Order: sequence, then C-alpha cells, then structure tokens
Amino acid sequence: MTAAIYAGTFDPITNGHISIIRSGLVAFDEIIVAVLTNTKKAPMFSVEERMEMIKDAMNGDDRITVDRFDDGLLVDYARRKGVRVVLRGLRAVGDFEHELQMANMNRHLDPDIETVFIMASDYFFVSSTLIKEAASLGGDLQGIVPEGVAAKLRVKFGRQTDRRA
Ligand code: ADP
Repeated sequence: MTAAIYAGTFDPITNGHISIIRSGLVAFDEIIVAVLTNTKKAPMFSVEERMEMIKDAMNGDDRITVDRFDDGLLVDYARRKGVRVVLRGLRAVGDFEHELQMANMNRHLDPDIETVFIMASDYFFVSSTLIKEAASLGGDLQGIVPEGVAAKLRVKFGRQTDRRA
C-alpha cells in the first residue's frame, strides 16, 4: 500500500483540489487529506467545517482519510503517519517557484520524504481565494466547487451565488 499526504488550507475545497485527489488515486492507494489549522491565511471556515466539506465531497471513498494538521513541520506529520509522499497540485508557472522552494526545503528537512506534483487540468484557474471573492459578489460557482460547498458559501455571504437558481 502506497499512501500520500495532500495538505492544504482547503478554505474551501474546490473541484481543483478534488481533481488532484482523483488523479492522485491513480498513483497511490490511499490519500490523507490534511487540513492545515495553523495557517497565516486566517481561514473563513473553521477546521471542522473544512473537514466536513471535504468528507462530503469525497462521498465516503474509503481510500481517502480526512485529518487535521495542527502544528509543526509537514515532514514530521508525514513521518508520524508513516507516509513518505507529499502530493501537491501545480496550476501555473506562478505556483512553480514557491512549490520548488517548499519541496526542496522539505527534502532538506527529511530526505526520506518526497514531494510529487500533479499538473492541474480543467480547474487550473480555480483557487479558494478566487472562489470566496466570486461568492461574495454573487458569482455562479456551479461546476467549480461541490454543491455542498456552494451552499455553504451562499449561507456565509447571505446571498444567492447561483444567478440561474
Ligand atoms: P495552500 O494554499 O495552503 O497550499 P491550498 O488548499 O490552496 O492550500 O492548496 C493545496 C494544494 O492544492 C496546493 O498544492 C495547490 O497548488 C493545489 N491546488 C489548489 N487549487 C488547485 C487547482 N485548481 N488545481 C490544481 N491544484 C490546485
């Protein structure tokens, strides 16, 4: 069994994240989706809400485990879980520099843990930040976030995000 850790803020999970998880399952038997709680990004959704949205979106697929990752280094978390692969998605050239630095820093911190990248496809333009911005302005998010996430965003912003509904 080969497992990988897919860590992120997931504030909220998008179809872009989901496509990386689905592609990851082609290469790995199990994926641990680790939700970062100690993030400088001041997430809009609580860690519990973010985990719940991920679980809902993954429809009880037993190859996916949703966990929280509170503090410390990702490589230490991976080691505790007995996992040696960190999975990341690459959207555009803009992601590359930061990801290259992080992957090499993690390799320096623990050479036994390797970062594996999957190229974004259909959802390369989707980020959680842009999703929240569009939702706050009443944008139609159908097809780029799971329906449960779109509903949560509508409640959060107290408005209809799907103009066709
Ligand atoms: P963080 O910003 O804390 O890294 P994110 O949840 O934004 O957390 O992203 C987690 C991972 O998912 C990153 O590797 C990121 O590049 C990737 N990712 C985010 N959105 C997409 C997308 N639309 N398509 C492919 N990969 C994505």
